[in-house]
Amino acid sequence: MSADESLFRTADPAGKIIVAIDGPAGAGKSTIARHLARHFGLLNLETGAMYRAFALKALRAGLSLDERESLEGLAAETVIRLEPGKQEPGEEENRVLLDGEDVTGLIRNQTVTNAASRVSIIPAIRAWMVRLQQQVGAGGGVVMEGRDIGTVVFPQAEVKIFLDAAPEVRGIRRYDQMGPEPAQQPDEVIRDLRARDERDRNRADSPLKPAPDAILLDSTHLTLEEVVAAAEAIVAARLVRAAD
Ligand code: C5P
Repeated sequence: MSADESLFRTADPAGKIIVAIDGPAGAGKSTIARHLARHFGLLNLETGAMYRAFALKALRAGLSLDERESLEGLAAETVIRLEPGKQEPGEEENRVLLDGEDVTGLIRNQTVTNAASRVSIIPAIRAWMVRLQQQVGAGGGVVMEGRDIGTVVFPQAEVKIFLDAAPEVRGIRRYDQMGPEPAQQPDEVIRDLRARDERDRNRADSPLKPAPDAILLDSTHLTLEEVVAAAEAIVAARLVRAAD
């Protein structure tokens, strides 16, 4: 019996499972998370969107991203809500509401991307985000992706995948997604990715690193199809164990 057959034979074992996907920028976490959510009938939650939404608010307020106290004050008067995407192809993107405003379409540009990386090193901002993420994922049945899901947000997650790839490969993949009029040259994309990696991996509070029990998946030499298949097999194997 294949892992999938076993899954369908049991009473919705995926229903309450938490799948944590962590890794550096551009490793393909969102793509893999979306596939897994669709395949196993889980909700897909992209925690980076929350940091991005807060960064947008800080930029709009004209705050310096080094002013921790002002940023913490701003956080205290901010309401961020993350709404899971749907499971249909093309509908998986999360909606993120900033003080009730849908800012989903405003948080993917380079300015917000760099600002999100900078505000995310502040412990009080992280503590706030972690609490929100724990609330939104509390019921289980989710794939949650970010940097600290398996280590801090849901250390008890049933499945932890740490997705990685060489910075040059991640940078070129990002560049290829930029469409016919890319805003940056490939070397600039790689440089920005390295800067974000550096901040994520070296911050004092919950740095980016694999949880001790995470399964490492390095996609440097893999096609998207191969990474998807490997990730599906990891989740399916966990579900088979849960059903035994
Ligand atoms: O994943 P994404 O690129 O959208 O995340 C934006 C930024 O938010 C990242 O560069 C990272 O610094 C931060 N982040 C984080 N912890 C998470 C998710 C994102 O620090 N769980």
